[in-house]
Amino acid sequence: MSNIVIKLSEKAQKDVINYYSQKMVERKAPGVVFAAKLSDCAITVYSSGKVMFQGNGGTREAEIWQTEAKDTPTKTLSKGDTLPKNISSLSLIGSDETGTGDYFGPITVAAVYVPQDKIELIKELGVKDSKMLTDEYMLKIAPDLKASLEYCVLILRNEKYNLVQSSGASQGKMKAKLHNQAIHRLLSKISPGKPDYVLIDQFAERKTYYNYLKNEKEIVTDKVLFATKAEQIHVAVAAASILARCAFLSEMDKLSKLIGVTLPKGASHKVDEVAAQILLAQGEDALHSVTKWHFANTQKASRIASKKRFK
Ligand code: MN
Repeated sequence: MSNIVIKLSEKAQKDVINYYSQKMVERKAPGVVFAAKLSDCAITVYSSGKVMFQGNGGTREAEIWQTEAKDTPTKTLSKGDTLPKNISSLSLIGSDETGTGDYFGPITVAAVYVPQDKIELIKELGVKDSKMLTDEYMLKIAPDLKASLEYCVLILRNEKYNLVQSSGASQGKMKAKLHNQAIHRLLSKISPGKPDYVLIDQFAERKTYYNYLKNEKEIVTDKVLFATKAEQIHVAVAAASILARCAFLSEMDKLSKLIGVTLPKGASHKVDEVAAQILLAQGEDALHSVTKWHFANTQKASRIASKKRFK
């Protein structure tokens, strides 16, 4: 019987919660953010960032997350531009992306406009830091957000991703182009001069971001701010993060149906196993079409598949 506690980054905690969301159980103990129960392991996520794995399956489950635990960033403050003090109460376009670390499924980016007079409503609808929200919760509130706000969601499917990637473009460049495009399209939907600012959840320094965009036709530069952890700064970014996540989830559903296997999120060993299964049953082209092909998972899956072939 093992009892393992690891400390995880906010991102990794969210991944843990999403990963075990099907097995969620109610646990009203103090400090408990999320609890799940497998047949041989209980998983508890605490608000401190610690995650406990109890039971015979504890070692196995903890191993999935141990690599994440090694380099837990301890930064708590947001980095980036100096922001106006009252930014959280201004009219803002927020933008965020997801799917970048997932082997299966697309990268999705959302830009959302929240005018000053709708900030309270959006909070009322349950928008908060998406790092602490489950997929189910986000799927539940997304329709209300879409009905109340102007937004633009872009999906970069893997056929396109793999093409662009193999021509030498980095993920950073792809993300920059998607953010810029989503913000540009959203700006054209709302009256001119409207948002006080555009706030991008920072994934690259300002200089790098605009360097990525240098060959674009339309480049949004006016009133653009960058900050890390921006979903904690303004609900527009939190809402963008939710819509991006929901678009990702719905694409994953579609792809799973298309390929006839439930595609797991992330890039863990489970992902390799499912990828190997697809490789054996449907071949390389099928796997290529639903994955970020350059990820190390491709090699791992092919190793697993060749072992199985010779059995
Ligand atoms: Mn982000």
